[in-house]
Amino acid sequence: MAAAATQPRVMVLPFPAQGHVIPLMELSGKLTEHGIEVDFVNTEFNRDRILESMAEEGGIPDGIRMLSIPDGLGPGDDHADIGKFVRDLPSAMSGRLEEMIRSNKIKWVIVDGSMSWALEVASKAGARVALFSTYSAAVFALRVNLPKLIEDGVLDENGNVSRKARIQMMPPIDASEIPWVSLASTSAPERRRNNIQNVLKTNLSMPLAEMIICNTSVEMEPDALALLANALPLGPLVAPSSGPAGNFLPEDLTCLTWLDAQAPGSVVYVAFGSSGFLDATQFQELGDGLALSGRPFLWVVRPKFTTGVDVGQDWFDEFKRCVGGKGMVVAWAPQQRVLAHPSIACFVSHSGWNSTMEGVLHGVPFLCWPYFADQFCNQSYICNVWGTGVKLCRDEQGVVTKEEIESKVARLLEDGEIKARATMWKHKTSASIAEGGSSYQNLLKLVNLLREQ
Ligand code: UDP
Repeated sequence: MAAAATQPRVMVLPFPAQGHVIPLMELSGKLTEHGIEVDFVNTEFNRDRILESMAEEGGIPDGIRMLSIPDGLGPGDDHADIGKFVRDLPSAMSGRLEEMIRSNKIKWVIVDGSMSWALEVASKAGARVALFSTYSAAVFALRVNLPKLIEDGVLDENGNVSRKARIQMMPPIDASEIPWVSLASTSAPERRRNNIQNVLKTNLSMPLAEMIICNTSVEMEPDALALLANALPLGPLVAPSSGPAGNFLPEDLTCLTWLDAQAPGSVVYVAFGSSGFLDATQFQELGDGLALSGRPFLWVVRPKFTTGVDVGQDWFDEFKRCVGGKGMVVAWAPQQRVLAHPSIACFVSHSGWNSTMEGVLHGVPFLCWPYFADQFCNQSYICNVWGTGVKLCRDEQGVVTKEEIESKVARLLEDGEIKARATMWKHKTSASIAEGGSSYQNLLKLVNLLREQ
């Protein structure tokens, strides 16, 4: 009897944070649709919580095998501590990773750009490697050009912004908004220094990557992509047709029924991704601002989203009682389905890259509320380049006040030009991922390369 033909198999290695696991699961889903099998390697902690939440949501797509490696933390440690991961994951995971690549005879590894230490491990184990950027191409280009920015005196090797510079690449940002500078507060110079040093160090292994897979499109970031050799833009990535991909928390689907009952183009959707959080004052101000806006709203309040307020069932019940049927609060939304819903009017967002791409793909105007990392750069794209949103401004105390929220929601929803541009970008990005579009063609290019086993 002839042996069954084996499908090509690749390994995918995400950084263990929600905003990294989701797009890499989406990419994996796309690869399986084209006949490539995927070993998706998580930390043990994340593998378990993804399996648990996805069991309720249709399970892992066919063709994806969920593997795991311990993160090296103890039972009492915080398994979501990004600082610890950046420092400790290479030593905790390298040995086991190399062994897995060798024993499973993996020919290609797709490494998350925030795990670039693994490029060397995979190459050493004999695999070919591609890097995946969970950030915009602009942020990736900034990363590659960090030594030049230091040489030009825009910032120093400790991450101190040396002069008040505006970086005139696409999109324009202030030097203080460079992701590895804005990641750590000014009161944490050591953290800032570590960030910069880490980027400089991990950049050295970048030439090992045969290509940089980007969750973006040529239409959205032509200038930034032109700065990157070997970039393969194939976004915006979307959840596989079989269901959501890689959630750490189960989605609360009741909000979809609630959205069905709202008028078209009426609902303010508010979500700050997987890691942003607000202090008690800001949390209260946001709640008041939404109530003042007089519009229906859907608000994602994750566990630990705010400090100082105990967001348990009692809080949810009390909040519901106060706002009546006007607002709905969930702990985790089916975000892509929410943004695609006709009742959504705008998206109050921290401007994480995935949320940005998802909002653009569905033609939803933004109110940008960035906090750190690449979020300021993404805000600049939305407000200064694509023209699909406005930014929320902070007062002297650094608070986005309820009055600011009320007035910007009103202004955004009255602005027909912003809505028209958002709709134009929806059409452009949808065309890009549809058969024959630029991102679709790049996906096929990737599939063909990965078949070279
Ligand atoms: N997300 C979701 N439900 C929520 C909130 C967020 O599914 O209630 C998803 C969202 O669709 C996006 C990801 O979580 O894919 C967040 O990624 P992003 O880059 O926007 O932010 P991060 O969490 O990395 O800060």
